Amino acid sequence: MVKLPLPDDQILYSLRMRASREQSHISGAERLIYSDRLHEEMENLLNRAIGHSIGNADEVHFTIEAIKGDILYCDSLPVSTIVTTDTKNSSEKARELLSLIGIPEASIRRAFDDISEGASPDGGNMRGAMLIDIDSGNRIEPDPFRGIRVSRIDFEEAAERNLESEMIRICVRGSRVKEALALATKVILAGTIAELCWSDNPDYTTGYVASKKYGYVRFPKLKQEGDRKGGRAFFLRKSEIGIENYISFLQKRAVLITKLSPGFKPSSLREFLESYEN
Ligand code: AMP
Repeated sequence: MVKLPLPDDQILYSLRMRASREQSHISGAERLIYSDRLHEEMENLLNRAIGHSIGNADEVHFTIEAIKGDILYCDSLPVSTIVTTDTKNSSEKARELLSLIGIPEASIRRAFDDISEGASPDGGNMRGAMLIDIDSGNRIEPDPFRGIRVSRIDFEEAAERNLESEMIRICVRGSRVKEALALATKVILAGTIAELCWSDNPDYTTGYVASKKYGYVRFPKLKQEGDRKGGRAFFLRKSEIGIENYISFLQKRAVLITKLSPGFKPSSLREFLESYEN
């Protein structure tokens, strides 16, 4: 991790957007943006909030804060895609990968069950992620309705440009990967053992498992089309992590991705594991 100086005369801002309808979460975004692109990026996020496929928001909140503390600079996780046949097969392969990473069966089951049933105690989606202690299999996030929202993470402009050509090279389409990859990179940098995610957007069915060892591994069709349930689970060892510092790092520390780690072209889980070991 290298520390670079800020470009001349530029302030780095944390830009956060949260959109809801009838108090139910619709969409959100977390960006780190230099002053010269702040207006443009706010407009993009506003368009996203009021034109979301779940429906138009009736409340949109923007928070803009200048970053004052140190910024951490890092490389992204590598992106790979596992070719699967259907939702059942995707789910089996994602569980298999989590198991190889060392996540116990009870914790894997807890994450899949809770996300697919609605991870908030009211049966809805959470705004943030659940934390699962892999030694007990219990959820330990302080607020199970809200979860932990990761913030202050983004790509530097040059890395963002490279991301587009890297996505073409590894046959990945769509803009969603960009934000999720940034988030997962910070989540793993924080000391999380693995992350499981699928979107709450009914049209977006690809989910992923992220880890230090295997990077950001996508599983198409991880949920059925039309399903509005989605969420994130961060697997960790409570006994090995200072939970307050961990949460504070995820929420507050500014992390900018300066370089992309090269990923792999779509393949079966077996082929992916073989190429990873070589
Ligand atoms: P999305 O991929 O944006 O559809 O988000 C899927 C789920 O991940 C949401 O329902 C939230 O539970 C969770 N989530 C979204 N954004 C964040 C974030 N910044 N930090 C932690 N969890 C998030």
